[in-house]
Amino acid sequence: MKFGKTIYLDYNSTTPVDPQVIEAMTPYFYEHPGNAASKGHVMGWFAEDAVENTRKIVAKTLHAEPAEIIFTSGATESINLALKGVADRYKVKGKHLITVKTEHSAVLDTCTYLAKIGYEVTFLPVNHLGQIDLEELRNAIREDTILVSVMFANNETGHIHPIAEIGKICHDCNVLFFCDATQAVGKVEIDVHEMGVHLLAFSSHKIYGSKGVGVLYRRQTAPSIQLTPLFHGGGHEWDLRSGTLNVPGIVGLGTAITIANQRMKQEEERLGQLRDYLERNLIDQIEGVEINGDVQKRLSHVSNLRFLHIDGEALMTKMGPSIALSSGSACTSASAAPSHVLLAMGLTDREAKSSIRFSLGRFVEKEEIEEVISKVTSAVQSLRSISPVWDMYKAGMLP
Ligand SMILES: *Cc1c(COP(=O)(O)O)cnc(C)c1O
Repeated sequence: MKFGKTIYLDYNSTTPVDPQVIEAMTPYFYEHPGNAASKGHVMGWFAEDAVENTRKIVAKTLHAEPAEIIFTSGATESINLALKGVADRYKVKGKHLITVKTEHSAVLDTCTYLAKIGYEVTFLPVNHLGQIDLEELRNAIREDTILVSVMFANNETGHIHPIAEIGKICHDCNVLFFCDATQAVGKVEIDVHEMGVHLLAFSSHKIYGSKGVGVLYRRQTAPSIQLTPLFHGGGHEWDLRSGTLNVPGIVGLGTAITIANQRMKQEEERLGQLRDYLERNLIDQIEGVEINGDVQKRLSHVSNLRFLHIDGEALMTKMGPSIALSSGSACTSASAAPSHVLLAMGLTDREAKSSIRFSLGRFVEKEEIEEVISKVTSAVQSLRSISPVWDMYKAGMLP
């Protein structure tokens, strides 16, 4: 499905809101405007019921309890609440946290902030496939370690970490485990108990819900996790997240998750086939294309490809507005720095900048993938035809 003239292949950045989700949300803007915290009248109760309904749906999806679900404004806020909340609340036990170099900036920058205010953070390295070494994780855990933060699936490469094994290590070592599951919820099965996580975050706008709604799962039994809140005010969400709830957005999240659960298996398969078709064709038709990351443990809708001696930004400029993709240098807002994820995997600056992320989703059709294959192929050929670097490479003067 085209959005204007553009083929959208950037679903890991955000997704369009599913029309069914919009339909579910719409009445909550005008017909049912109640504040879920207004306990004195029917309009408040109506909004509260709607919020609690989504809370149940989210809880069931994660195999959690409704009282373990906190609504926030998005994954970034959930991540901040989890990391800063634990850091403050458990500082008597210790001030050491462990995370991974390939985490999303919402985790990395929060950890860097904590390091600045007196915490100590270990940033674990990854290998060339983006995998962490579990022995290295175990060895990094110390007496004063309070929390380990590892994402479920990487937003740039789609690499899926062995979450249950990490959870087991955390359990053995008696440290808390937080998982940024923003790219995984709604795409693959999530069971917080099997994963052994104490805290888990995700965002509605990555699963065809609206922007501005997120979730933090916080375990309430064996053990019950305590957090220091970021916001103070009306005491919403068990005093952990004050502020009027985004009722339409939360209603939309309920619908978005319901649809995602219904279609999960078939979508995973359909997108996997499209992704493999895209990859196979680009690799066959273009010289010097490599897949970045672990092809065995990967989300089925993500492909991160490296085009030898091609600048990713130049490639996207060449293709113009016809395809929306993410380059290996554009993942963190406006910065043109090479992707920290690809650098952590051992790619050079040039290799990272010659990489492009294709992330597929619900509204992508086969014909669009055909068009993308042909557009990318001709753009690469055209750039190489005028590239002195490519000429030197072909003449054997460059690796
Ligand atoms: C998108 C994303 C976030 C941030 O989500 P927001 O909704 O923008 O706050 C965090 N982590 C991962 C892995 C993401 O993909």
